Amino acid sequence: MTSPSIVRTSTAELYDAHVMKNYARAPLTLVRGRGTQVWDDAGNSYLDFTSGIAVSALGHCHPHWVAAVQRQAGELIHVSNLFRNPNQGELARRIVGYAGPGRVFFCNSGAEADEGMLKLARLHGVKKAGGEEGRCFKVLVAKNAFHGRMFGGMSATPQEKIQKGFRPLVSGFAVGELNNVESFKALIDDSTAAILLETIQGESGINPCTPEFLQGIRRLCDQHNLLLLADEVQCGAGRTGKFYAIEHAGVRPDVIAMAKGLGGGFPIGAIWAGERAAELFQPGNHGTTFGGTPLACAAALATLDVIEQEQLLAHVTRTSAAWHEALHALAKDFPQHIVAVRGKGFLVGMQMAADPGPWIVALRDRGLLAVSSGNNVIRLLPPLNATAGELAKSVEIFRSALTAKG
Ligand SMILES: *Cc1c(COP(=O)(O)O)cnc(C)c1O
Repeated sequence: MTSPSIVRTSTAELYDAHVMKNYARAPLTLVRGRGTQVWDDAGNSYLDFTSGIAVSALGHCHPHWVAAVQRQAGELIHVSNLFRNPNQGELARRIVGYAGPGRVFFCNSGAEADEGMLKLARLHGVKKAGGEEGRCFKVLVAKNAFHGRMFGGMSATPQEKIQKGFRPLVSGFAVGELNNVESFKALIDDSTAAILLETIQGESGINPCTPEFLQGIRRLCDQHNLLLLADEVQCGAGRTGKFYAIEHAGVRPDVIAMAKGLGGGFPIGAIWAGERAAELFQPGNHGTTFGGTPLACAAALATLDVIEQEQLLAHVTRTSAAWHEALHALAKDFPQHIVAVRGKGFLVGMQMAADPGPWIVALRDRGLLAVSSGNNVIRLLPPLNATAGELAKSVEIFRSALTAKG
């Protein structure tokens, strides 16, 4: 037995000594959360408009979510996919209800969902080539896309800062221009199997696909027998006021990857595939140990319960209108600092004239947590149940930071 140590090491010291250095972290240790508020270890509270990067969809510790996770943790946590569990079946049914006829595969993160989609694209290519492997495999992606940090998704992420140091990458990707159907059309040949798009690019600065672009891409996919793969890991699960952002364009993709907000804070990822594409996975060709555990699915079911019971999609749509208006007014008042305001619902990017880092610090010092994104953008990602008052508060804090800078 070791005796309890009397030497108290701070969290900052523990991180410095023992945690890998792959993140540029804020110098803040968070210890407690409730709704839109989080507290640090010095007792300061913050309005949390990071939502753990679009994850904590219901804010922190929503009572319905907490009760569901506590109940399930005392009942059954993990059994693997060697067996059925009731929660996974029910969650699949609920996701099909949002996405349309088809089937769901469960995993644990956005990157893993994207990898699964890419594997479906490969299987589609084999089918398209009459069963021959290696002939039809190419996936078209958009400039500045982000599809996760694993080898497949990273190779589908045409950004030097993400790929640097990790070559050789997975081959078989070609890059088109966002919102330019012709540029994608020009890349299609017999080796093309799929087109992969984020409906709204999150990590590279909140760049939405226009509805016309998505509709044009849908037509291209239909004409050339390509799968349309929608990466809704960040913009899905209600963040834009529809369950999937691609619904705004009236387009149905063949496959949808989701993760971040789906579990309301619990790690879970999923891919939905329409009936045709769903049949591509057969016993043995894909899997994951942890995917769709009773506990993860209980967390996601509780998240969907609250989204539905509290009518959060309508809430996001309704309250975001005034919020966007106020943010646009800020941009008008401070054109020297704010270049553009983009996004939909509770997925907003404020493009600044310079590095957003100092702005993120200025907001934090005033009690607002926000996330930086590519292209000088500050991302504001309130939980889906943030009130009109809290949204207004974020604008007030932003205005105060801008005013101080002059
Ligand atoms: C965050 C994100 C991913 C990766 O998800 P992880 O859970 O971090 O692996 C993939 N695609 C998009 C669009 C994302 O925003």
